[in-house]
Amino acid sequence: MEPSILHELETIIPKERILLDLADRYSYSFDASFGEYLPDLVIQPKDADEICKLVKLANKYLIPVYPRGAATSLSGGPLPVEGGMVLDMSRLNKKLVIDRENLLAIVSPGVITADIHKKAEEVGLFYPPDPSSSNVCTIGGNLLENASGPKGLKYGTTKEYVIGLEVVTPTGELIRTGGKTVKNVTGYDLTRLLVGSEGTLGIVTEAILRLIPKPQAKKTLLAAFSQFIDSGYAITKILSSGILPAAMEIMDQYCIRAVENYQPSGLPLDAEAILIIEVDGHPMAVEEEIRKCEAICWEQQALLVKVAANKSEQDEIWKARKMVSPAIAQMGPTKISEDATVPRDQIPVMMDKLKQIRHKYQLNLVVFGHAGDGNLHPNILTDKRNLEEMKRVEDAISEIFEAAVALGGTLSGEHGIGLLKAPYMEMELGKECLDMMRKIKQAWDPNHILNPGKIFPKPSQTKVVLT
Ligand SMILES: Cc1cc2nc3c(=O)[nH]c(=O)nc-3n(C[C@H](O)[C@H](O)[C@H](O)COP(=O)(O)OP(=O)(O)OC[C@H]3O[C@@H](n4cnc5c(N)ncnc54)[C@H](O)[C@@H]3O)c2cc1C
Repeated sequence: MEPSILHELETIIPKERILLDLADRYSYSFDASFGEYLPDLVIQPKDADEICKLVKLANKYLIPVYPRGAATSLSGGPLPVEGGMVLDMSRLNKKLVIDRENLLAIVSPGVITADIHKKAEEVGLFYPPDPSSSNVCTIGGNLLENASGPKGLKYGTTKEYVIGLEVVTPTGELIRTGGKTVKNVTGYDLTRLLVGSEGTLGIVTEAILRLIPKPQAKKTLLAAFSQFIDSGYAITKILSSGILPAAMEIMDQYCIRAVENYQPSGLPLDAEAILIIEVDGHPMAVEEEIRKCEAICWEQQALLVKVAANKSEQDEIWKARKMVSPAIAQMGPTKISEDATVPRDQIPVMMDKLKQIRHKYQLNLVVFGHAGDGNLHPNILTDKRNLEEMKRVEDAISEIFEAAVALGGTLSGEHGIGLLKAPYMEMELGKECLDMMRKIKQAWDPNHILNPGKIFPKPSQTKVVLT
């Protein structure tokens, strides 16, 4: 960075919040996905006013700007692929106000998602989006990725709960979208456009979130199946029986074995699939619904069905699911997590396809995820130093995306496109639709300074390159 630009920068941000040391910059060069990209500098802004000035300066000197929450992105969202400045948004974490009368939470982007859950529940309210990373990720990252989690099946994704935003535009103006009213049809719905835009259209500096009353009761069961296909039938039968579970999670046999190796908890090793089902609502309805789910699982040849009798048994069941990520991480130093999503009646077909891909490319490919909404998480455990294997990983990933799109699904249900899935955008959207998105980007960010290198493929990019 030229000394004169740095000097100008120091008139906006004090020196101690401008990080230039290699060690500091290295700490901001990766996320939870793949690849490392060193930024030229890291800025730690503390309010919207500083961000407006920074973005104006970035436009003047054409410096790429990369907003970053907690960097738990699994698609390369905050990676500074073209250098420039990383904006560490974690210091904008002061506001977390619960407005009980209006059933709202007003939050700064750096607030940790689990803190919103906790604060809402203290007053009998509920913020449903629950990414598994919620103890560490920021609400800003959730908004920009349109994150969700197990409860997406019944309650939907982050976008269903955002009714207003304060945003610094890519040209450095501060705007507000939406507001505190649940209904608002004034003009284009820019809130919805910005949620899920992966930091390419604006920097969120405040958000108004909708809360709902906390369900009075919940019940959880675990069912194991010796045949994967039977778990698929159980899912469709439950969903067509008039029950909408709060969560319906699936683990394949490789995940089951990995969890048992990592921390034995009595999961049946001969099972091809485990389902975890949770229902919530009025206590009487919940009791009736969990018994109906139990009966359907037995009808579909379950090996085992266990309904949790109390909170500690409930936690025990969820522990098996939460253990999947750390357990499979033992299978290889490099973990590549995808989240190709298919219409839920296509889950058995997609699972079969994933089995074929595993066999064809001889990879450690395991599958878990949110079965109720078709959002599978095929994970490949590999070693990035093994270049020959990485080539097979690249081909396997391409085939996973092709299969999901061919089945009427999508490249990503919740992790976003970021860097890694950009080459496949045209395959899902078609040229015209992708061009329309490019025009929106061009109109908002004429100098292409905000999160460049993301979402849109480079001209010759047709597949992911990991080597
Ligand atoms: C173990 C694990 C489990 C996970 N489970 C889930 C899950 O169940 N469901 C799910 O949806 N995701 C999951 N994720 C992915 C990840 O946690 C989410 O995408 C999360 O929303 C990212 O939040 P973050 O604060 O880490 O954001 P980052 O990773 O730092 O950034 C994400 C994107 O948002 C942009 N951004 C961040 N803050 C702002 C801001 N204020 N303004 C503008 N742009 C901004 C960044 O540029 C980037 O494009 C998981 C990740 C891990 C590692």
